[in-house]
Amino acid sequence: MTTPTPGRVWAHVGQPFTPGTDPQGPHHVLILGAGRMGSALALALTEHAPHLKTLLIEEGGLPNEDGATILAPGVWTLAHLPAAQHDAARWTLNRLQTLLGDDLQARPYLTLHAEPAPGTQPTRDLLAAHPQSLALLDPGAFPHARAHEAHTYRPGTLAQVAAQTAIRRGTDLLLNTRATPHPGGRVTLERLTVTNTHQIVTHETHTLHAPLIVLATGAHAPTQAEHHLGVHTRHARAYRQTPHLATSSTEDAPVLHAHGLTLRPQHGAYTLIPTIHHRDPHGYAPQGGHLTGVPTGLRRETLEDLVGLMDALPALATSDLHLGRSLADIPGAWLALPHGHPDAPPTHQRLDDHTHLLLGGPHADTLGLWTADALAREIAGGRGQ
Ligand code: ADP
Repeated sequence: MTTPTPGRVWAHVGQPFTPGTDPQGPHHVLILGAGRMGSALALALTEHAPHLKTLLIEEGGLPNEDGATILAPGVWTLAHLPAAQHDAARWTLNRLQTLLGDDLQARPYLTLHAEPAPGTQPTRDLLAAHPQSLALLDPGAFPHARAHEAHTYRPGTLAQVAAQTAIRRGTDLLLNTRATPHPGGRVTLERLTVTNTHQIVTHETHTLHAPLIVLATGAHAPTQAEHHLGVHTRHARAYRQTPHLATSSTEDAPVLHAHGLTLRPQHGAYTLIPTIHHRDPHGYAPQGGHLTGVPTGLRRETLEDLVGLMDALPALATSDLHLGRSLADIPGAWLALPHGHPDAPPTHQRLDDHTHLLLGGPHADTLGLWTADALAREIAGGRGQ
């Protein structure tokens, strides 16, 4: 087997990007968005269709600080998946092990219950070895718990490793470039730069043509499909914030899940992953809430959920919970909701003769790599064009 020529990376506008003069010819596939879904697709294409030359285009850096990937929980678990999706999840886990090695950590995952349910055991028994975790909750409110297999990782690292591996195998990467899809396999590019007064401006524009375009722009993708390609989809988006709970956690602390709230041990404390109740209405702009008249940086639904859990999880009622003063104080990102449902698995969809959509969403930690691979297989099979 011959070693592939590594792809090129254009990180900033100082590096001239001259499409049309490339001796290797134009790109066959343009992937818009280098979050974990776009990066995973680029990697999968190098395996299933090594003859296709791919360009991965990203508005920010890798990973982008505004994308959903960097704030995703990074928890692989079967706990909330129907049995029909377990094979795809196991496949994803294998792949995560190959790509991340020691950066993937096995960790217990406990769902907490008020009533006994199939597979539950006394919470006190399951947390006997984790007194710090037991101290977070009122065991009287959650006397039963079920242990699930889980693995944790950083989704931002996954995006990076996938993209870097793809580049080593020939994929090209264009950073700090906003891409807009158009019908007929056309994409316009704005290469962005920052002025010395910190404004983001367009340095130059380009137009590319390719037989295949994949929108992997996360929560932006359904809107782009509608505005620029005229294709209406049923996909939606939701703004999810991940507040911080400063209560200390050990290296091996279990992930806890209670009434839809996930407490993810991270950086010696906890990141809280709230429930997504429903799609955010069209035109919705997230706003902070109020607690006893004081403004907080948590959106109202999330604040209400946390207040509702304060008796059962007393740690939430302490100053360890960071509420912020404004929305900007609490990390948050728009998340795609495939088919408009918070529980739908990642998906891909053909939009027109040239364009596919690839969406991760809430289950991307457990199923995202599988879905990206499925799209790469479809493209390799010639059914993508
Ligand atoms: P996913 O989990 O689907 O990968 P992300 O939100 O993490 O979702 O990734 C989407 C990526 O697409 C982000 O890194 C974002 O910066 C990028 N992106 C969004 N819109 C554009 C665009 N118009 N052009 C280029 N990149 C974009």
